[in-house]
Order: sequence, then structure tokens, then C-alpha cells
Amino acid sequence: MKKIRMTNPIVELDGDEMTRVLWQWIKEDLIAPFVDLKSEYYDLGLPNRDKTDDGVTLAAADAIRKWGVGCKCATITPNLQRVAEYGLKRMYPSPNATLRAALDGTIFRAPVALKNIAPYIPGWKKPITIARHAYADVYKAAELRVTGAAAASLRVEYADGKTADKPVHTFDGPGVLMGMFNTDKSIYSFARACFAYALDEGRDLWFATKDTIAKTYDGRFKEIFAEVAAEFAARFEGKGIRYEYMLIDDSVARAVKSEGGFVWALKNYDGDVLSDMAASVMGSLALMTSVLVAPGGQYEYEAAHGTVTRHYYKHLKGEETGTNGVATIFAWSGALRKRGQLDGLPDLAGFADKLERAVEGAINEGVLTGDLAPLYIGTEPVKRVNAREFIREIAGRLG
Ligand code: NAP
Ligand code: MG
Repeated sequence: MKKIRMTNPIVELDGDEMTRVLWQWIKEDLIAPFVDLKSEYYDLGLPNRDKTDDGVTLAAADAIRKWGVGCKCATITPNLQRVAEYGLKRMYPSPNATLRAALDGTIFRAPVALKNIAPYIPGWKKPITIARHAYADVYKAAELRVTGAAAASLRVEYADGKTADKPVHTFDGPGVLMGMFNTDKSIYSFARACFAYALDEGRDLWFATKDTIAKTYDGRFKEIFAEVAAEFAARFEGKGIRYEYMLIDDSVARAVKSEGGFVWALKNYDGDVLSDMAASVMGSLALMTSVLVAPGGQYEYEAAHGTVTRHYYKHLKGEETGTNGVATIFAWSGALRKRGQLDGLPDLAGFADKLERAVEGAINEGVLTGDLAPLYIGTEPVKRVNAREFIREIAGRLG
């Protein structure tokens, strides 16, 4: 069989633990036999991040900026325990946070909808895409431990010498303090990305914050969204879709009772938390896909879940694991399709579609990893498979 040729590379960001193992199997069984893969490889596995003083993460971000399409494996965000486990020089920041900060952008998280996997909320007939603002707020905040009685305030020093001050709290004993920020520029690009995505998909857009409490901070997000909504109003009307602003608590209550199908725009932290909720409702974290869309027109695809540490330790002991590779396979298919679209290679984009149909076909016909088995509502007899068998099943269907 002739392999599909590529012109420009995909920036490949390798990662850690069980997902690093899956990564290799997916490349071997699902890509290499069909595509003459051109990739620019960056090893973001923790040992190499440590070796390069995290330089590899910044180099990968530069490469995505240059080539436009990246595909990332899940990576460990080190905590104290990981520093000891890997003998790290220091506690590196989350590679995802570094990439988001470098590329700005919005993360769209959408579940893989499968007709024979029942969501935990039976009313959710259509997938919900979460659009998470991927820049700053609590992820770029400055934090301080306050060790005793103290007066804390916010201070801004403008370039022209003017200053603005605001007291935060007078401590009568120890406590904690945080200062966080966002920029109009990033909020505008977040809003435009959300409106453009909803328009493209022909789906309603919700945006939710807590502007009744954070009147200035969340209030600014609300104002900017209202302004961008006006820019898109005619096009939204033309498509018969709606934009709605609501309070975050109201939006959660309404989402649970809805039938799904909308794009749910959320600030960074809210998006982090609620995308895990939405993924779990759809069955398994392993069905949640994620793409970072940068204002410069770059795309970085990944699975929403982590490195599945618990399974990795079993794998190291030689035990079988039922790690579900779906979201990682969809990271690859998303990147290959985008590369195909950008480079005018219909065969490559078509292969990405085939790969996704093969995954959906296998699951709908009852070939399942352990996480999905209890959720299956199809009529075929269930065939439970391990991580590698699932990937080989897909390869068989592609061949
Ligand atoms: P996780 O890797 O997402 O795994 C949490 C649990 O969810 C697993 O133990 C497993 O449950 C289930 N799960 C997740 N993905 C699965 C899959 N593909 N197939 C089957 N089950 C799956 O989260 P974590 O254990 O909290 O984090 C592990 C590491 O990942 C951490 O070092 C963290 O920093 C990192 N992380 C990275 C990213 C990223 O790179 N985007 C995101 C999140 C976390 P059972 O054990 O019950 O089977
Ligand atoms: Mg999360």
C-alpha cells in the first residue's frame, strides 16, 4: 500500500508515563503503516525537561508558532513528590500552562460522542464543547504566604509614573494572599475565538462568570463579550444561533437540565473544573479531546486527561492495563486533519476521518476498554480488551 505523503511537519510533543507508552503504540500501529509521517519531535517527558531546564517546552512552543500544528502527549506537572521521584533540579511549571502562555489562545474541549455509550446525565443528547480561556488568572497569579499581622494592598505603577492603590486586607495573623490578572487583548481574542468557533459549528454560545461578585474583573470579561457579540450579531442571526451571558452558578444548573449541544465559554479555572465534569458525564475522561486555538492561527491537539499514573505503575510491573487510547488517537487525527486542510492534502484529512470512524465503529460494536464497558448500551456482545488490543483492533479495521 502506498503511504500518504505530507509536506509540512506536525510538531510532536512526547510526554510521560502511560500516555507515553500509548503514544508509541499509536504511532507504530495506527500512523506509520498508513502515513509517511513528517514530525518535528520534542521530548517533553519529565527527564528531558529536567535535562534541558525546561528549554524543550519553550522550543516546542516556538515550533508550533512556526509550523501551525502541534500534537501533544500528556505530561507530568511536577509536585514535591515528583521532584523526589525523578530527582529533579527544580519544580518545573505545568508544560500546558507554559504552552498556553506562549501561544495565548483558547482551549476547546469536546467529547467524542458515541451512539452506544450512555452519558451519566441521560438528558444530554448532544455533546457540550467547553471553551476554556487558556491564559492567566489563577494560573499566572502571584501568591504570598503572610506570616503575621500585616496590611496588604494592590499597587499598579503606570509607565507614565501614575499609581493606583487598593487595600486588600488587614491581617491580624498569618494567612495567604494572591494577585491575579488578565489582559484586554487576551480576553478579546478569547471572545473572538469562541464566537468564531460557535458560528463555524452552528451552535449556541453561552458565557458565564461571577460578575456579581468580581464586579471589575469578571465585569470586564462580560463587557468585552458583549462588544464582540455585537460584531457577530448579524452572522449569529443568519445561522439561527444565540449568544447568552449568564452567571456561572446559573449556567451550571441550566447545563445539567439542558439537552447539550452548545459551546460553553468559561474563564480559565471554571473551564478547567467543568471540562472534567463534562468529560465524566460523557462516560470517561478518555473520551475528551482538547485543542488549543491560538489567535495567530496555530492549533495544538491533545487528550484532556493526564498521564494515567496508576495504570503506568501496573504496566511497569508487567501487568495488563485497560488504558483507553481514544482521546490520544483523536489528538493525532485532529492534528493530521488540520495539517491536511492547511496544506491542501485531502488524502491526509481523509485518513484522519477514517481513523476516527474506525474508533467509533469499534466502540459502537462493543470492543471496549474497562472504563467504557459499564456504559455500553449497544446490542452487540461486549468484547473487553486491554490498551494494546484496542489499538490493534483499530489498526485491523483501518487495514
Ligand atoms: P489522569 O492521568 O487523568 O488519571 C486519573 C484517573 O482517571 C486514572 O487513574 C483513571 O482511573 C482515569 N483515566 C484517565 N485517563 C484514562 C484513560 N485514558 N483510560 C482509562 N482511564 C483513564 O489524572 P491524574 O492521575 O490526576 O494525573 C496523573 C498525572 O498527569 C499527573 O502528574 C498530572 O500532573 C498529569 N496531568 C497532565 C495533564 C496534561 O498533560 N494535559 C492533564 C492532567 C493531569 P482509574 O485509575 O480508576 O482507572
Ligand atoms: Mg482539570
